[in-house]
Amino acid sequence: TPSPPTTAYPPLKVVSPLATVTGQTLEAAFEYRRNTITTTANGITVEPKRHQYRFKTNLKPKKTGLLLVGLGGNNGSTVVGATLANKEALTWQTRTGPQTANYLGSVTQSTTVHLGWDGKQQVYVPFNGILPMVSPNDLVIDGWDINNANLYEAMVRARVFQPDLIQQLKPAMEQIVPKPSIYYPDFIASNQGARANNVIPGESKQEHLERIRSDIREFKQKHDLECVIVLWTANTERYTDIQAGLNGTAEEILASIAASKDEISPSNIFAVASILEGAHYINGSPQNTLVPGIVELATQHGVFVGGDDFKSGQTKLKSALVDFLVTSGLKPESIVSYNHLGNNDGKNLSEARQFRSKEISKSSVVDDMVASNKILYPEGSHGPDHCIVIKYVPFVGDSKRAMDEYISSIFMGGHQTLAIHNTCEDSLLAAPLIFDLAILTELFTRITYATEENGFTGFHSVLSLLSLLLKAPVVPEGTPVGNAFMRQFGALAKLLTACAGIASDNELQLEFFTK
Ligand code: NAD
Repeated sequence: TPSPPTTAYPPLKVVSPLATVTGQTLEAAFEYRRNTITTTANGITVEPKRHQYRFKTNLKPKKTGLLLVGLGGNNGSTVVGATLANKEALTWQTRTGPQTANYLGSVTQSTTVHLGWDGKQQVYVPFNGILPMVSPNDLVIDGWDINNANLYEAMVRARVFQPDLIQQLKPAMEQIVPKPSIYYPDFIASNQGARANNVIPGESKQEHLERIRSDIREFKQKHDLECVIVLWTANTERYTDIQAGLNGTAEEILASIAASKDEISPSNIFAVASILEGAHYINGSPQNTLVPGIVELATQHGVFVGGDDFKSGQTKLKSALVDFLVTSGLKPESIVSYNHLGNNDGKNLSEARQFRSKEISKSSVVDDMVASNKILYPEGSHGPDHCIVIKYVPFVGDSKRAMDEYISSIFMGGHQTLAIHNTCEDSLLAAPLIFDLAILTELFTRITYATEENGFTGFHSVLSLLSLLLKAPVVPEGTPVGNAFMRQFGALAKLLTACAGIASDNELQLEFFTK
């Protein structure tokens, strides 16, 4: 296993006429070439246009705190344990030999971006070497759970880490006990009732909101934080109704909380509390927390919201594989995605309303790829048959099994069937995404940009730039959703290099085609 990749690369020095540094601000010019398109019955008219952008990045990462809702869950305890293990560079014994802490699976910590050719070799830079980013080791982490187990107990219950690592982490992990949380039984599965022994008392949703707000304030003050991110990694809730008068506007959602309306979910309260405290809110589960009223409130308060549902395993592969098939000119006709898992997430998803939330977020992931090719999917035809099954099998614990069958139509009436079997600890795929979501969110608080028409402004409150890490990206109203994994990665890498003043079109590699 490689050591954390950041140590494997020398520092990057930028010499660019496009970039200037003043104090701790890096300002970079970027020419954004974009086609203006008009589609009519007579055809498509394309006009390539050049737009001048300027990006300003504050180069000093903020002291950042991460509050997890669901701290005592498999993801929560894995995130905290992994950070401690990485901070201490722990090594533990396994059946197959010693293993050292790492951040594999994290885009910010373990991927590289192509910079160009130095005359002898292709040169890459670590993703987190393009612009300064918070290190996951420096995140201050705390959070809430409706269960009062300390994080040592939670880690044992999770069955994710190896016994030697668990014993090494025990002294630190048993000191951490989640803060009491909000429990409204109607929103998560009834089989979770026994877990709810760490619950904020009372019936008043307004009081619950105030309590969560005061927890966020205290956390911020205690650790002297400049940036706080609240991230939902608690159980999947059922969908809430979206109705005028209930949650359609910022005013309505605040009034509905004050009136303790039934359709206000715990995650709605966490999102509103975060926004009112100036903390950014990310939804790692599939439920529709980010209702229009919450989006409006975030916009009013200038904080980021992002979601929905970590894109960690089966769906992540789907968002790369279907893109690959369609890009190959093959036509996926049927995608059947079967899972069984035995962790508490699987138990919660074994009830119909919570499964439905997951089914929705897993289903939309191929839409952009299907829409990209009318040769394969003509107007009026439907995309592939897409079926999702999740079964709860306690014995396998966190070692989730995902079996996917993709059938595509190929040349001259043939069929290609791909069968994929994916087994791994689910939380070891999800936890690195939690770091990435926090690290990128903090970075985007430090970037503003100006166009020819408008002065410097931050990104939209609905932070669609996090889409790479999320199954069903929430985007600003009226803007397109992208799911294809490599395109999302490319866009993010391009943005970072643009902000650093080193963006290039090097994927074209035109210099190598010269006679
Ligand atoms: P988990 O059941 O182990 O953890 C969830 C924790 O949330 C539990 O400890 C539970 O007690 C707690 N909880 C429930 N309601 C709460 C509330 N209102 N406030 C505070 N705590 C509450 O599940 P997990 O495996 O850690 O997954 C967490 C979430 O992430 C699930 O919704 C899951 O669907 C989603 N997710 C996970 C993955 C992955 O693990 N690969 C991928 C995508 C999405």
